[in-house]
Order: sequence, then C-alpha cells, then structure tokens
Amino acid sequence: MNKMELTYVPTICPYCGVGCGLNLVVKDGRLVGVEPWKRHPVNEGKLCPKGLACDQFVHSADRLKSPLIKKDGKFVEVTWEEALGLVASKLKATRETYGSNSVAFQVSCRISNEEAYLMNKLARVGFKTNNIDNCARLCHGPSVSGLALSFGSGAATNPLADCMNADCIFVIGSNAMESHPLAGRRLIMAKERGATVIVADPRYTMTAKQANIYVRFYPSAIIPLVNSMMYHIIQEDKEDEEFIKTRTKGFPELKTTVAKYADVEDITGVPTDLVKKVALLYAGAKNAAIVYCLGVTESRTGTDNVRTLGNLALLTGNVGRPGVGVNPLRGQNNVQGACDMGAYPSVYSGYQTIDAEENRRKMEEAWNVEGLPSTPGLTLTEHIDAAGDEIKSMFIVGENPMLSFPDITHVGASLQKLDFLVVQDIFLTETAEFADVVLPAACWAEKDGTFTNAERRVQRIRKAVDPPGEARADWEIITDLAHTLGVPGFDFTSTEDVFNDMARITPQYGGITYVRLEKPEGLMWPCPTEEHPGTPILHVGSFSSRDGLGTFFPIDYVPPAELPDEEYPFVLMTGRILFHYHTGTMTRRSPTLNAEVPAGYVEINPDDAAVLGISIQKNDSIRVRVKSRRGEVETVALVTNDIPKGVVSMPFHFKECPANRLTNTARDPLSKMPELKFCAVAVELVPRTGHGKM
Ligand code: SF4
Repeated sequence: MNKMELTYVPTICPYCGVGCGLNLVVKDGRLVGVEPWKRHPVNEGKLCPKGLACDQFVHSADRLKSPLIKKDGKFVEVTWEEALGLVASKLKATRETYGSNSVAFQVSCRISNEEAYLMNKLARVGFKTNNIDNCARLCHGPSVSGLALSFGSGAATNPLADCMNADCIFVIGSNAMESHPLAGRRLIMAKERGATVIVADPRYTMTAKQANIYVRFYPSAIIPLVNSMMYHIIQEDKEDEEFIKTRTKGFPELKTTVAKYADVEDITGVPTDLVKKVALLYAGAKNAAIVYCLGVTESRTGTDNVRTLGNLALLTGNVGRPGVGVNPLRGQNNVQGACDMGAYPSVYSGYQTIDAEENRRKMEEAWNVEGLPSTPGLTLTEHIDAAGDEIKSMFIVGENPMLSFPDITHVGASLQKLDFLVVQDIFLTETAEFADVVLPAACWAEKDGTFTNAERRVQRIRKAVDPPGEARADWEIITDLAHTLGVPGFDFTSTEDVFNDMARITPQYGGITYVRLEKPEGLMWPCPTEEHPGTPILHVGSFSSRDGLGTFFPIDYVPPAELPDEEYPFVLMTGRILFHYHTGTMTRRSPTLNAEVPAGYVEINPDDAAVLGISIQKNDSIRVRVKSRRGEVETVALVTNDIPKGVVSMPFHFKECPANRLTNTARDPLSKMPELKFCAVAVELVPRTGHGKM
C-alpha cells in the first residue's frame, strides 16, 4: 500500500476506560487499519487486541443507515423528518398526559461528553425530569457514591502510570489483564520495578497469575477480608497515626468495628496468616495503591465495599501523593465522562446536586429556563421496574439492557409495557428490536468530541470517516430533536460549541478548551481555569469533602441476597474476557476478535464437573444447562482449576447464552447497583442426542 495515500487520524480507543491513544488509518474515505499512538502517555505506543481491531466493526454491512419506524410489527425505513417528528410528538404527548416523570432517558457511556451533556440538558430543560441515568449504574455507581462519601470525590485518586511509584499494589476484584489490558501492563511493569503486587480474586485470573501473592477469597466476602486486614494492621500498630489525626474523622468507630474481624477464614476462605501477611505488606509499604473493579462494585453492598477500601487507604495514610490512592478501573471508554456530564438522576454536570437550590438557580439561569425539578429521578433498573406504570415512554441512547441488565426476561417484559420506546444506536441491538422508532447513530470514528478516561483525563476524539447512509452523530440527532420539540438552548453547530456550553457551568471542566486538548496528554480534571495545569492526583493536603477530611465508615458484613441451597447449589459470577467488550455489539462484529472467542461458556471446577458427569476430554464440547430462579441458558462447560469449587463463572458478552438471564436484581440501597456478581444457580448436563459431538 502506498503510504502517501493514507491519512492518520489521532483519536482514542472506543473500548475500555483506560483511554489509549491510537491513529485510525484512512484510505479513500474508509478505515483500513489502526496504529498505536507512539507517544501517547496512557499506552506508550501499545494497544491490546481490542484496540488493535477497533476499526473492524465500523464498516459492517449491518450498520443502521436509515431511521426506522415500526409499522404493523415490522421496521420500515423513513426520513429523519418523519422519525424525529414522531419521536417529538409521542414524547410530548406522554409528558402532557402523564406528567414530566413519565419519560425516562438512558444514556450509554460509549457516547461523548458533549452528547451525554446534551442528553442531561434535554431531559432537564425539555421534559423537566431528572429521570436520566447512564450505564455506570451497572459498573461503577458504587465507586461514585462510595468514594464521594469517603473522600469527597467519586473519581479515581491517581493516574494509572502512578503504579510505577508504588511499592505495593493491592488489586482486588479486577482482572485488569483482560478487562483493562493496558492498565494490567502497568501492574506488570510495577512488579518488574520491584513493587509487590497482591491480587485478591475468587478466580485465578490472568491478572492473579501475574501477582507476587494471590489471595483466593469467597465471592462477595470483600468487607470481612478488608476489615480483617485493618484489624491486623491496628493490632500490629501499623496504622498511620499522624494521618488519622490530622486528615480523617471517625477512626474510633472503625476500630471498634474491625475488632470483630480477627479471624474471617470461615466467611472468606482465606487463612488468617495470609490475611495478616498481605495486610502488613500493604501497611508496611512506603507507598501502597489500591486498584479495583467490578468484583468490588457489582454487589448489593457495592458502596460499602468501596468505602471499606477507602477505610484501608485512610488507615495507612495512602491517599494524596504519588504511588498511593484508591483507583477504580472504569469499564467503558467514557463511563467517567457520562457521570461528569450529569447524565445522572441526582446531579447536574460536575456533580452539582439537583436538590441544592443554589445549583438549580445556577442551571436555570445558564439554560434560561424555569422550574427545574428538585426530586432525584429514577435509576436505570428502576426505569425498567417502573415501565408501564410511572414510566410510559423511554429514550435509550447506545444502551443494550436486553443483554446488560440483570434478569433480562424481566427487562423484555417491562420494555413491552411501554407506550413508546426510542432507541438510538449504531446497530439493531437486542434492545432496539423492542423499539417503536430506531435512530441510526454515527460511531466514535465518525464524529468529533471528547472522552474522559478512568484517570479523569479529558481527551479529544476526531472524525476519521463519514457515517454510513443517513446515520448522524448523536449530538446532531439530539440537537435536531430539541429543535423539533421546540426546546430552547440547543443552537449548536459543533461539538466545541457544546463543550463550551458545558464547561462554563461545570467547575471541574471550567479551564478546559478544545485548543488546550490538542496536546496528546489531554487534561485531568479538576481544571477550573484556563491557567490551571489539571490535577493528576486528588486529595493532596486536603480531601475534596466540605470539611477537607477523609471519613472512616464502620461497616459490617452483609451476606449476598441469594445464597446457594440444595436446589441451586452453585454461585454464579459473571465477567469480561480479553477479546470481547460489554454486550458484544462491536467486538462480535470484528472478525479478528470473534475468531478468538466465537461463543460463550461456563467455567466449572474439575471436582464439580466430575460430580455432574462432565468429562474432561480434549476437543470435547460438553453442553450444560445453567439455571437460576429467573431463567436458564445452555452453553459449553469449560473445566478449569482457575475457578474454586462451588463457583461457576460466565462471560456476559454472548447473546446465544446470555448470563444476565440468570442474574439477580437485588440492589445496593445507596448506589442502586444490582448484585450482578453473585446469584445461586444449578448446572446440569444436557444429554447428547446422537453419537457425534453436539
Ligand atoms: Fe482500548 Fe482499553 Fe485495550 Fe487500551 S486497554 S487498547 S483503551 S480496550
């Protein structure tokens, strides 16, 4: 290929929250490849398999190319004018008949900051509702609520590269090597530099295999495990007295609570000696960092799990300098940004709470509107529960609840109860099939904007190619819909216009401009003024809380909502794998990625497999049925010692065996996070019907 014919467009990977820089390679108006961004500070010229193949779904033949309206049960192509006219009239009629809170908006974390901000503005200005939420609710909602309570800000405290300054890294509930591979690379680099990497996980994951010390604990037992670590730290006088005295509050209550957790082997499965060993390694390190992910958050005690990690960091003074901190690995490319932008039922952009009158007045003035509502809206899964009752119409942008929400049989039944459903997406997803109107959107390679990664790093994405057919950027569709509805304040002609509208009312983004974002490293918020250099490390010298202190929370163990029993004897965990992403909408259309892992499976321990009559034969596909109180799926058994006895695990990317048909809707009372990582299931062999393989 003649290199002269190629154009290289610098942008950001559309997959995980690490936010790697890459160049899209364009020839004759089409993507022909991906090249890592050599000097990008996040990935330093490396990409994982997903990033390297991220161009492959863009020109898929089945991309949505025209607006669709369902007529007599079948989708029919229509003009934008007809589609937006119908959406506007139906949403307006719903609001007029049933009131503002009868409409709900669900926002994907794959869209840009500008687009998430516009959805927040449309819901609040156009419909006077706070019924807007994003899919962080199902991954790091507990990080937002937990870290905000402990430290005053719900975001990661330190940059990923800061692992290189840590002497000890405690990784819990994160399989970074598969879910966030370029963050996993930092862990390996830190270990090679001499840091002790401790990985605590029920599964012996690809990440656990890289650790100096692996701690296998029983799923859900985070609070007793970490409380016991704190017990041993206090017993050995290894807490940071000066830090506790000058920068925190609530220590006496914490000390009383953790005193009950001297020996937790019966709950956690971890011998006391090992708990004590990792506790003292963490507390004894000059700089110790915590890295965690969905193994911590996807629980009905998700917020408490996060606050317990906050307690551990406060106890040892490991907050507010290089090489320390508490760092959630955010799942989707813009999950941090979608929350920052106010696509959230209780806050405007920049976490300005909707129930504070001063904030409502500020937004009313900025948006030139009156009567913004002060009551928090419903969360994502509450939208589903209220469908057909309080919620009559729903507008879903880029979300696929028919695969990603717990108990998808319930989700499908709820979507059918709606009077009107609009889905805006790049493919006809499992959820879009339920819609009355489908709006075709441009994907990330086809538009400008910004993403904010797991480190709070705001970065530019750039348009490389045109969207297919009539598809349009989400921000253009939302803007046009606002015009059709007659909602004022949507006179935008570029994403930069939208960004500026947001930045003027969002203190953390106040000093960020498109011009400043031209440099490869972007800017890390808070960045309140144009002279401010950005803030890589939070809570230096003082916490972001109102009183400047970090707060200890005494937290006791609460067991999961649904424990194994005679009928459903196994615990089901769900998770992600290296070659696929979320509901597989993009990665399963990538030939390279799909060839690596073309189908789902359930991991099962050899001892459990033997009891069930599952033999371990090379190249043998043993089909099993996995059943819970909510449904059943058929899949293939993968027999492995990497999973403990009594536990099975399924990736949730595969529509042919959707793990979320089985999962539990029990919720964390504070963050409303469902218990996606723990439910009781039964596993049984599917009888062979012939002599050959099934
Ligand atoms: Fe993309 Fe994440 Fe892989 Fe980086 S680590 S290339 S952001 S999927």
